[in-house]
Amino acid sequence: MAAAGEVAFRRVAGRWEVAEVSNQSTGYCPDPECRPSVAAALDRAGVARPDRFTHEIVFRRCTGCDELNIVREGDFVCVFCDADLPAAGA
Ligand SMILES: [Zn+2]
Repeated sequence: MAAAGEVAFRRVAGRWEVAEVSNQSTGYCPDPECRPSVAAALDRAGVARPDRFTHEIVFRRCTGCDELNIVREGDFVCVFCDADLPAAGA
């Protein structure tokens, strides 16, 4: 499995297309770089899709308290202990 996340489908004019796609998965904690894998899988399935995640989630594990954070609005601060989160890597 190259990517993980959530995809919501909707039926439009008799065809399925992607309504929402994200890499939100606390099990796999993928970085947004997995997006091309998602796009390729959807293309293989013949499903229309957005060009990018409708919800792009960035995960960072805090090096201070080891809790997993979801970075919101580019704010790389641990919500658990207020330590700075790593700017790169998952
Ligand atoms: Zn922390």
